[in-house]
Amino acid sequence: MSDAHSFNPTVLREYDIRGIVGKTLHEADARAVGRAFGTIVVRGGGSSACVGYDGRFSSPGFADAMVEGLTSTGLTVNKIGLGPTSMLYFACKHLNADAGVMITGSHNPPDYNGIKMQTSSGPVYGEQILEIGRVAAAGDFVSGDGKAQDVAVEDAYIDRIVADYDGTRELTVAWDAGNGSAGNVLRRMTERLPGRHILLYDDIDGSFPNHHPDPTIPENLVQLRKTVVENGCDLGIAFDGDGDRIGAVDEAGGIVWGDQLLAIYSADVLKTHPGATIIADVKASQTLYDEIARLGGVPLMWKTGHSLLKAKMAETGSPLAGEMSGHIFFADRYYGFDDAPYCGIRLVGLVSRSSEPLSALRDRLPSVINTPEVRFQVDETRKFAVVDEILARMKAASSTNPEIQVNDIDGVRIQTPDGWWLLRASNTQDVLVARAESQSDTGLERLKAQLVGQLEQSGLEGPSFAGGAH
Ligand SMILES: [Zn+2]
Repeated sequence: MSDAHSFNPTVLREYDIRGIVGKTLHEADARAVGRAFGTIVVRGGGSSACVGYDGRFSSPGFADAMVEGLTSTGLTVNKIGLGPTSMLYFACKHLNADAGVMITGSHNPPDYNGIKMQTSSGPVYGEQILEIGRVAAAGDFVSGDGKAQDVAVEDAYIDRIVADYDGTRELTVAWDAGNGSAGNVLRRMTERLPGRHILLYDDIDGSFPNHHPDPTIPENLVQLRKTVVENGCDLGIAFDGDGDRIGAVDEAGGIVWGDQLLAIYSADVLKTHPGATIIADVKASQTLYDEIARLGGVPLMWKTGHSLLKAKMAETGSPLAGEMSGHIFFADRYYGFDDAPYCGIRLVGLVSRSSEPLSALRDRLPSVINTPEVRFQVDETRKFAVVDEILARMKAASSTNPEIQVNDIDGVRIQTPDGWWLLRASNTQDVLVARAESQSDTGLERLKAQLVGQLEQSGLEGPSFAGGAH
């Protein structure tokens, strides 16, 4: 076999491969990724891989094609089947595999699918994904006679995550799996936790009939908030479509955003890791960084993207990292990957041990006024250029105005005496992401006006910032 394969250029992303099924991404692409990635793993001395898939209708077919591709290079492939992405990560550790592949469209609409990959040295992203494209385009595949086998890891996975439950008093908890691929794991793990557990949408259904499986969007948390309030729950927890992102609501039904959640976890983790580095992405509130420092930790701001944060975490030896998006990574007592069921268990544990309700843990953060993460569509071809143009103009402005500080770790994050605003290009969708935060309403208005003015100079209409502040 040496047939070259080229991909639709839009599917090779910064930290995964993703596209629209039957339009930009086909089973033949999954097979070719398997051959190319398998080739790279074999040439690096690897001999085994794990493959899992999410609950999308197209996922089993993509997984089969991936297994074919990987085994054709000589790898032994452990097929772990349907489950959350975190279970695939666990399988790679548990089975000591050299590579892992998850077929998942994450939180994207039902007609999307994608491929997340890792090796034993970390997530596959950036240049490594481009390398897969080059190997496939050259048809430069190794040939072998690998075998595939079904390996059940769900019991071992649930045993492992439940083992870290450290609560004391019993709680009532509502959980919303959003019909995503963590549903079965959620049902089985909550049966083993003390307290009362109310499950919403734990049936895995790739049409996502109840709400979109993305807990960062308030409208996707409506049913969970209602359930928490009506049942007097201590908290509510939601997962995204493939169970690597967590969302939470407090006992009053108030949303606990990703950065607030990370602040709450930080207080817990820094008790056993004093002085540790805790990493958050550029979208996070300044109050999170200040809180980590106040708690005696070392806050580190890094690029958005689960692969990028995971890599930075390994590099710095950090016990905890997280994103606004709800990707939260525990290396404290765990493996350092983003595992929403595990994060759920840790959250229930810490609320259970606290004498205060979850809302009070969140309200330890000073109150600031900030916009949610506002996402607005932009032409894919202009996405990165707009950010570069604004970055260049703001750098020029800061050279004559010392009150403007420019941070270009990821997109543009501008600090002024009013607070900060951020603009960055999404790596996974044709959208720009904006956020602003200030101590005052008038300050927030000035920050939003500065951001909108910059967008207009680049020929874009600013976002509405609808959805209210939090
Ligand atoms: Zn996800």
